[in-house]
This record gives sequence, C-alpha cells and structure tokens, in this order.
Amino acid sequence: MAFIERTHCPVCKGSSAHQLLQMPMDSGLVWDFLTTYYAAAISADVLTGMQYILLQCETCQTIWQKQILDDATLNQLYDEWIDPDQSLIRKQKVSPESRSTLARQCAQIATLFTGTDIHVLDFGMGWGDWLKMAVAYGFHADGIETSERRIAYAREHCLNTVIPQDITLERYHFINAEQVFEHLPLPNETLSSCYQWLKPGGVVRISVPDGTHTARKIAAKKWSIAEATTHPLEHINAFTATSLRRMGKDCGFEVIPPPLKLPMVGANLGQIKSFIGVGIRDMMIRFHIGLRTAVWLRKPDKTAR
Ligand SMILES: [Zn+2]
Repeated sequence: MAFIERTHCPVCKGSSAHQLLQMPMDSGLVWDFLTTYYAAAISADVLTGMQYILLQCETCQTIWQKQILDDATLNQLYDEWIDPDQSLIRKQKVSPESRSTLARQCAQIATLFTGTDIHVLDFGMGWGDWLKMAVAYGFHADGIETSERRIAYAREHCLNTVIPQDITLERYHFINAEQVFEHLPLPNETLSSCYQWLKPGGVVRISVPDGTHTARKIAAKKWSIAEATTHPLEHINAFTATSLRRMGKDCGFEVIPPPLKLPMVGANLGQIKSFIGVGIRDMMIRFHIGLRTAVWLRKPDKTAR
C-alpha cells in the first residue's frame, strides 16, 4: 500500500469534517486525468485501493485530501512521474515579467531588515529561480528541496542547499514558501519548524492556491477534476485566506501587511496592468480590504518589547 490516511484537519487539527466527494484513484475520472497529466508515467498498481476523498474541516474550512501518498511514493511522484527534463524546459521559458516579480519580492524583503548580513531560505526551491534572485540581491541564500534532480541542478549552479535536520535554530531572517504548503502532508508542523528556524522578528511568506470557492463549486456541480486547487495527489491541502492566517497564528506568528514596493513598470500594456494591479492589491491588504492566500507572517521579537 503506497498511501496513508490523515484523520485530522492538517491545519487546525480539528476532528470534525464533512465529505465533499469521493472517487476511486485507479479508475474512472481521476485515473483518466492522472494518466493524461503525468503522460502515463504512473502505474495503476501504485494507486490500487486508494480513494480521492475531499473533506472540509468544520472548524477552519480548510479542504484536504484524506488519503495521500506515503513519503517514498511522493518522492517518486516529484522525481519520476513529473518528467524532470520537461519541467526544467518549462522553467527556462519563464517570462521576463515573472522574473521581475521575483526581483520585487527580494526588494520587499530588503525593506524589512537593516544591515547587510541577511539570511534567507527558499522552502521548496524547485529549480532555484528565487534563490538566484536572492543571491543577486546580496542575501545569504539557502534552499530546501526533496527532488534529487533539482538539488543536483542547484549545486551545479553554485546555489546552497540544506536539509531540515541541519538547520540551526534562529538561523534565518526570512523564509519564502511559494506554492509549497498545499503539497505538504503536515503543513502545521512544517510552519512550526519555520518558526524555530527564524530569528525573532523574522518573516515567512506563504503563497498557496485559493480554495475559498471550491466547496461551493463542488455543490453547484461547477467543479472539475483538472482544477489546480484540488489537484489529486499533489495539492492535498486547499486553504482559504482565513485558514491560512489561522495556521500562522496557531504557530505563534503575527500577520503583517506585505511591504509596499511597486513592480517595475515598462512600456507594454501587461506591465502597466501589473504595476497598477499589484499596487492596488497591496494597498487593499494594508487597509484590511479583502484577503488573499498569500500571507506575510512575523515571528514576534520578544526581546524588543
Ligand atoms: Zn481545520
């Protein structure tokens, strides 16, 4: 058996949840989706007896997949079923606008901390794009990744990788987790580890897909198996803006507004829209108008009080 069952909400640990849907993994709709998505790299034997079950927590509204792959099979998914060569080719085609978004994030981080000795960690670094930008900004940058192929690639490009067991307490000023927490079997425990790794006053930024409308779409029969928020096997937690903040507070963090740094503006319409859109969005969050599933969480600095 290559899967395990989660018995409690992975975000708030609540035990009351209602089932939104259930389907077999190794046949029908889910299986057809998986064989197409992974270009038939996956074997039905691995998923025998496994069910795609979506539950919604009665306490914090997080939606989570009850049955998930065990650690060994998850590694197989990210290192074999997702073709590493194709993944790298896609990554290398990233647009200049996307890279300027990374630059803006690093500029935001630079406004949070004084001094020149800023230590940052990219949790789930992938092919190291964020890490490269952090290095360009002069940060001491480490990355965590489970995929051996991606770790080897990072090292070939002189990027520093670490494993959780080797991280000393209060090592980092900033931790980045871009599209990572939806994949984690134990997101609450992982965020607690981030808390331990951050210096007092340190900040973690988490960005995840928005699951706010998922339950309503399922009830209205407007949901599809291809929706990224509830991707079978991979996106095993679907947060709302509220549940994400709750997890942060449960782990001891305080929510802070994203530092104001406008994106670079260029001459084409896309760049101008981005400039206006990001500016308005960050201002709205600052004034508590609307919440998004990207959140900046600060570890309180008790020595400063
Ligand atoms: Zn919950």
